Amino acid sequence: MSKPMGPIPHGFTAAADGMLLIGGRRADDLVREAGGTPLFVYDLARVDDRMRAFRKAFAGVNLHYAVKANPYGPLLNHIAKQTDGLDVASAGEMKAALDSSASAEDISFAGPGKRDEELAVAIDAGVTLNLESEGEAERALAIARARGRRPRLAVRVNPDFEIKGSAMRMGGGARPFGVDSARVPALVRRIVEAGAEWRGLHIFAGSQALAADALIDAQRATVALAAKLAELAGVPPPLVNLGGGFGIPYFATERALDVETVGRALAETLAGRPAVLRDTGFAIELGRWLVGEAGVYLTRIVDRKESHGKTFLVTDGGMHHQLAASGNFGQVVRRNYPVAIAGHFGVRPDEEASIVGCLCTPLDRLADEVMLPRAEPGGLVAVFLAGAYGRSASPEAFLGHPPPREIAVGD
Ligand SMILES: *Cc1c(COP(=O)(O)O)cnc(C)c1O
Repeated sequence: MSKPMGPIPHGFTAAADGMLLIGGRRADDLVREAGGTPLFVYDLARVDDRMRAFRKAFAGVNLHYAVKANPYGPLLNHIAKQTDGLDVASAGEMKAALDSSASAEDISFAGPGKRDEELAVAIDAGVTLNLESEGEAERALAIARARGRRPRLAVRVNPDFEIKGSAMRMGGGARPFGVDSARVPALVRRIVEAGAEWRGLHIFAGSQALAADALIDAQRATVALAAKLAELAGVPPPLVNLGGGFGIPYFATERALDVETVGRALAETLAGRPAVLRDTGFAIELGRWLVGEAGVYLTRIVDRKESHGKTFLVTDGGMHHQLAASGNFGQVVRRNYPVAIAGHFGVRPDEEASIVGCLCTPLDRLADEVMLPRAEPGGLVAVFLAGAYGRSASPEAFLGHPPPREIAVGD
């Protein structure tokens, strides 16, 4: 029995000869243009569709891009022009964000373990620091004082809840992220009294949520928590970053998130918000939902072999570029991402095959016992849902193969 694969994002079509089109371009032409495989292709028109859908569903709420989902320069520049902020989590991402069209005051820097040098660069540039601890706050204040600067500071809150069903837990209980909510009011007072520019609260409760009601509950709880903390601190936050957590369906059993419903509920929540948040702005920070479905990873079949009656298509790519598709990026159970033979897109499958990468480890499996049209060496495999947590979340150095190429289309 072959195994199911996840849903191919809607809208992908093929040329008359069956070649997959990405952003209206033939996959084989894109490979030629980029100079070979493995290749990540990002369709900017798909990202634009997502940004438009967000604006429609969340009028009046700021949209931030979480750069760690995909820091590829041309993609980042494209997104920076159409979002209200970039959220970064390292000095490298901060540099990429500062090099984009985003202005420093629209960049916020979260993440545990910010080094003194990174704090200094952020403070000099005017980037907002989302403080992860009291210790970090004191270091930031001291560094700013020594440099004669007024730092822009926000506090990341470790909430006492998380998005139900969230695939990655980043809130609730003991966590390395943010300051426990009970200690936030005192920290806010401390940084305001120290003369910092107070920027607000950052409350991120989880990732990869597909259930609208779970997100609605989390956003309600987040607004209520922000109000309570603002009351206790005695200072209203200029901005509350509500986190994000919008997921995309990766597997056969999953359904797309209903963002219109979430947007309507948030509008209601915000309309009824406590007076202390009357002048507060609100932002949602998204990575995966904005860019995940816009990416396709193309890799070439190097070998076709049989073993104990099973067919293996061996490719020049693998988990060193697209770790998540191999099932080794935090997944508990390995399930198949959507894949296709790019030259026979939409053609009826006629054989069961496993697609493996070129790494010498059994972990390197891009698709396990799926039904595909027959493919030969030289053919191209397309792995979908490669736009977020692909190259930048994969162990590129493992086994010393060359890096992937990247290209953006649809601008
Ligand atoms: C990773 C991260 C995000 C982005 O999460 P997605 O699931 O890609 O939307 C947003 N905010 C914070 C604080 C993060 O750490």
